[in-house]
Amino acid sequence: MVNQEMLSYGKQASVIRELFEQAKREKKLIGEENVFDFSIGNPSIPTPEKVNQTLIDLLQKEDSVLLHGYTSSAGDLTSREAIATYLNQKYQANLSGNHIYMTVGAAASLTICFHALIEEGEEILCFAPYFPEYSVFAHKAKAIFKPVKCDKDFFPDVQDLEAKITEKTKIVLYNSPNNPTGAVYPKERLEEIAALLEKKQKEYHHEIYLISDEPYRELIYTSTPYPFITNIYDNSLVCYSFSKSLSLPGERIGYIAMSEKMKDVEDVFAAICGAGRNLGFVCAPSLFQKLIPSVLGITTDISLYQENRDLLCSILSQLGYEYVKPDGAFYLFLKALEEDSLSFSKIATKFHLYLVPSDSFGCKGYVRVAYCTKKETIQRSKDAFRQLKEYYDEVKK
Ligand code: PLP
Repeated sequence: MVNQEMLSYGKQASVIRELFEQAKREKKLIGEENVFDFSIGNPSIPTPEKVNQTLIDLLQKEDSVLLHGYTSSAGDLTSREAIATYLNQKYQANLSGNHIYMTVGAAASLTICFHALIEEGEEILCFAPYFPEYSVFAHKAKAIFKPVKCDKDFFPDVQDLEAKITEKTKIVLYNSPNNPTGAVYPKERLEEIAALLEKKQKEYHHEIYLISDEPYRELIYTSTPYPFITNIYDNSLVCYSFSKSLSLPGERIGYIAMSEKMKDVEDVFAAICGAGRNLGFVCAPSLFQKLIPSVLGITTDISLYQENRDLLCSILSQLGYEYVKPDGAFYLFLKALEEDSLSFSKIATKFHLYLVPSDSFGCKGYVRVAYCTKKETIQRSKDAFRQLKEYYDEVKK
């Protein structure tokens, strides 16, 4: 007999994966050019040349035993210090490489943080809509996962946060730029959250940690500077990943960084190391750790995502669809044309459009359109979006 909870997680594929597989099958049947797969958040822009060249150099020039050997559990100190120096220069963040933990991507960063900070039955509050895996990670850490509302722009609703915080709240989690809405949370809103958490920490006499999950940090299409959370709130942690900024999702490399002003920072870091050890997330891939110092500050050509976003927005606006223009990431949250987004997503597949229903993101009545596709896919999808709209216009008559 296997663990029943794990069995159920293993058996129930995510909606995103199901749609992705269905689109793949349909592509085989009717041709790739006739299917408009907006299901999955797989970067579509090539990895920067500097990344490939540095990997080749490392493989050719470095001692292969050292290059492929174990690093320390928390990661190679040179890479961790390079990350701290980079973040300090870019955001005046005052971080230390001693408190950076290298991980196999943001998923591991989050899982480690949850296990390091949560005692059974404590709460993780998170702004909805959110990345569906959060609730899976929270559940495994024996936390209670509580969604908090966003406003009409998909920014955090601080009043709802205040209403939902209890003495059991240990973590408040946010993700900006956001998956699935593409919203980039303004600095002022994060400052309001920080002020509220300061107040609640005093009231409850314990720490409340603010975690920023930021795999899309570099994918922003405005000139507004990114508000770096350790400058805003002392008990804060950053979960980062190079999956999207360098188009390296399959290589599994990221990190956890924490504010140096955090209370008991040494103990928190030790708990992070302990959780990493407990979960088997030690010594992230050595080759990719050693790549990082040479490619910090480099990103894929995100102007291509911006072009995709602009094209998609112009098509949807022309056809009369409702959405909030996304400022970051590579997702657009589209108002479904009926209340039931699952049914809307199903109808859309009749027109070969693959859109992810919003229920799994903790929010009803929308679909997520992942526009990290070829530009031609968006261009050619116009007719399908038009037919979908006409179908609903007809139903409403
Ligand atoms: N957090 C968010 C918001 C994401 O969208 C994703 C992946 O799509 C992750 C975390 C996990 O990223 P990684 O590939 O680095 O594990």
